[in-house]
Amino acid sequence: MNYIDQEDALNYAIKEKLGSNAKYHIMTYGCQMNEHDSEKISWVLDQAGLQATDQIDEADLILLNTCSIRHSAENKVYGKLGELKAKKRERNLIIAVCGCMMQRKESRELVLEKFKQVDIIFGTNNIHKLPDLLLQHLETGDRIVNIEHSFQATDDQLWANRYFSYKSFVNIMYGCNNFCSYCIVPFTRGREVSRPSKDILEEVQTLVDSGVLEITLLGQNVNSYRPGLEGDYNFTRLIYDLAEIQGLERIRFMTSHPKDISDELLKAFKDLDKLCNFLHLPIQAGSNRVLEKMNRKYTREDYLRKIYRLRDLVPDIALCTDIMVGFPEESEEDFQDTLDLVREVEYDAAFTFLYSPREGTKAARNPNQVSQEIKKDRFDRLLDTMYPIFEKKNKALIGKTLDVLVEGESKHNGRMLSGRSDGFKLVHFEGEKDLIGKIVPVKIQEANSFNLGGERIHD
Ligand code: SF4
Repeated sequence: MNYIDQEDALNYAIKEKLGSNAKYHIMTYGCQMNEHDSEKISWVLDQAGLQATDQIDEADLILLNTCSIRHSAENKVYGKLGELKAKKRERNLIIAVCGCMMQRKESRELVLEKFKQVDIIFGTNNIHKLPDLLLQHLETGDRIVNIEHSFQATDDQLWANRYFSYKSFVNIMYGCNNFCSYCIVPFTRGREVSRPSKDILEEVQTLVDSGVLEITLLGQNVNSYRPGLEGDYNFTRLIYDLAEIQGLERIRFMTSHPKDISDELLKAFKDLDKLCNFLHLPIQAGSNRVLEKMNRKYTREDYLRKIYRLRDLVPDIALCTDIMVGFPEESEEDFQDTLDLVREVEYDAAFTFLYSPREGTKAARNPNQVSQEIKKDRFDRLLDTMYPIFEKKNKALIGKTLDVLVEGESKHNGRMLSGRSDGFKLVHFEGEKDLIGKIVPVKIQEANSFNLGGERIHD
């Protein structure tokens, strides 16, 4: 069946089984990669003739785009699937589950066995096949499962329904080769594949032509971006090429692996105005012993060298990190190394986690797990150390004027707008809604550990 035939068949099957105004609702769990995958799923379903709805009770097709990074993320999905069982009894409803959890054999088998209400299961590499899977299910009534690792980066010609008109995510690579001993991602998303630079540059140009000011390049480890067949082309060259695009104002990227951050990339922060003065560089732990057990392949000294080099080049760079406490065998002394490092670097922000074992990883098999009580105590002490540092860094910005990309109304006060500075600081200020999507100067007047308040400066 060619694509047109398939589209006709799908439209016919949808109308017959679900009516002419079939609607879909997507629930997204997890990281920005998943959010962007949901934007692509939304685009694919729009092409298939369905309409998006944010009302779960209106939806004929409900998709759960799942995350498997932690047990708690998976438990939320199981809970939601339990709730949907009752809804499915009440009406004609199709339930699909996709994302990282479905790439993981144990979770997939559990869903297949315990949640008979699930009709379609597909993996992170099979979004483009969704119309075909939906058609198969509508025609046969069978449960359809497709989680093949069939995807090549050159296949990524899918468009996405972007949630914002002024900022956008752009995938530059998929998968990860690093095998950190606590992480399930290389097993769920597969090995690294980089998209051709030409495709990325064209995608960003199209986004900018449609009004996008800020892009965030996405990948599990963007620093190891290396498109096949393009010689020594690498991530830094991609950043320089993107910076040439007229009308693009801001470039961000995530996530970075400290071992792969090169000197030339650090220098790009100084050279390129468009590259935001913000680096998210996960350290995970401050102890070399723990870093080795995590298989992170750098030492705290390597990490600090890169931080100092970057601060030499760009003194006001904002730094963010990820820190995990309670990794198996982490001693009090190891934990003190983490606190020392936090005090030394003085991060602007951090994502902090209690280690939780992921089945199938090396760290989960370590018999010397740290008790929940100790983990919790260390976690609290970590936050007690970090919050005053965040506050000090934010208060140092009082009196300065920051360019803020306005993202919307403040969640807590309808009269206020919120946006992000170049250094990814959350800034609130009073203003009219027509500023949403624009970059405006804001003079900072107040600050706490998590955000800034200020006044818009008129040109
Ligand atoms: S770099 Fe490590 S933590 Fe990040 S996705 Fe790869 S294996 Fe997981």
